[in-house]
Amino acid sequence: MTGHDKFNSDELYLRKNNFCGFKYCPLCGAILNQQEIDNHRRLICTNENCDFIYYQNPIPAAGAIITKENKILLVKRAHPPRIGYWCVPAGFMEWDEHPSDTAVREVKEETGIDIKIKSLFQIYTGKDDPRSNSVLILYLADKIGGELCAADDALDVGYFDLGNLPGEIAFEAHIRAIEEFKKQLDS
Ligand SMILES: [Zn+2]
Repeated sequence: MTGHDKFNSDELYLRKNNFCGFKYCPLCGAILNQQEIDNHRRLICTNENCDFIYYQNPIPAAGAIITKENKILLVKRAHPPRIGYWCVPAGFMEWDEHPSDTAVREVKEETGIDIKIKSLFQIYTGKDDPRSNSVLILYLADKIGGELCAADDALDVGYFDLGNLPGEIAFEAHIRAIEEFKKQLDS
């Protein structure tokens, strides 16, 4: 899985699974210690005058399933992790965004097209991204404008027949989403 990555995926997983490698309190700079709080491992600041606790949460991401004549729009990744692998257009939410706005923005940034959200498709948890765990919120959407092109974060873009997908899909959540979407179309 790491063949296309320019950095070592195993090391990133180790770091991710160890509180993303965080060692020092972002508020006061003291050492952080692991502690069990409410049945979860947390990082607690060792400075008794500081109340910082690091809660490690998944990062929300959003994207859209867009089709043309029963083909699905996929993006070939230009950035790590999994450069050269394909995925549904999606990306991490900005601080003040609604996930539907994230989906519209990310599709525009990656594929050049403008979309209109139709409905929520499904929500997935992602645990195989070496940077962080995530929550992927996927919508169904229609193209309403723009020109299809491999934009910012993409090496390539294209519509794929659901029976003839590219072999390398980047993440388990995307693989599941495409399978479940295909099942819906077939039923
Ligand atoms: Zn602190």
